[in-house]
Amino acid sequence: MICAYCGKEAKGTKEHIISSGILGLFPECFATIDGERSIVHQGEPMVKDVCADCNNNRISYIDSYAKEFIEKYFLVKYKKDDTLSVEYDYTMIQKMCLKFAFNDLRARKKDVSFFDDEVKEFLLNEEKSSPLGNITILAGLAVNTSPALDYMFGNMKLRWGDSPLLLANSIVTNIDYNTGHITLREERKIQEFENYALSYVFRFNSLQLLILCWDRDIKEDVLNKNNIILKYQYPYSILDASGNTVLSRCTSEATYHHEQLIDVTWGQGLMDEISYMRGTFSEQSEKYFEEVQKRWDEEERKLAEEHPR
Ligand SMILES: [Zn+2]
Repeated sequence: MICAYCGKEAKGTKEHIISSGILGLFPECFATIDGERSIVHQGEPMVKDVCADCNNNRISYIDSYAKEFIEKYFLVKYKKDDTLSVEYDYTMIQKMCLKFAFNDLRARKKDVSFFDDEVKEFLLNEEKSSPLGNITILAGLAVNTSPALDYMFGNMKLRWGDSPLLLANSIVTNIDYNTGHITLREERKIQEFENYALSYVFRFNSLQLLILCWDRDIKEDVLNKNNIILKYQYPYSILDASGNTVLSRCTSEATYHHEQLIDVTWGQGLMDEISYMRGTFSEQSEKYFEEVQKRWDEEERKLAEEHPR
């Protein structure tokens, strides 16, 4: 076997797609739900084309950071108007997203051409501490503001997938406040970006991350244009080398359970209006939701005990 990272001929070892340190933070999520292939299995998602040296020595520093970052901020749930100031190592966040995406793409036998020698070297080499210029990462808080509580789907704290749908315009076009009639956009147009190469979405409990990878030769003005669209069109914060960003909610009742669907900022606002009209945000509803969530949390604690890692 040729190692997917270093390219040397060696015996393949099992590498976790999402690091085992992160899986270990959520033992209650013991089943893997693969929506794309419509299968549920109890094993941990793995890929077996990495040599022992890369797996155990060379790329494991990325997993350590990923676990530390998730554990620090995202084991808890947030409320709809919460904001969270996070400190992070931007290069390590890039490496974490790239590594998980690369592993997942190989497991699904998809196109990995973005991961050329330079990107692999970036991942393998802990000393490489400057971020890649042709990558944009957006982050936000995943908060359930829908009337469909978490227990209804269960076990969905960890999710990921390639090519999330970044909409070009809102899902809802109009709300008639007199009648409550909601008009949906007939055709969902996807936002196009120049020099787009690859994108991924990750959900780690209350954190949602989007990584957009651009062609290596993307010109600075095109990159700036893409980043301006991303910044103003989506309810996410762009992470950068400053290592300090304030996150706020990036989900609505329409997108919380569908991490692949990225609504625009004004679309999220319209969805919030609907939640408000529906009464989801009323004090009484919130109290009821809180009570049900508490019971689900207890159930999850039991599941975690039954499935120690
Ligand atoms: Zn290797």
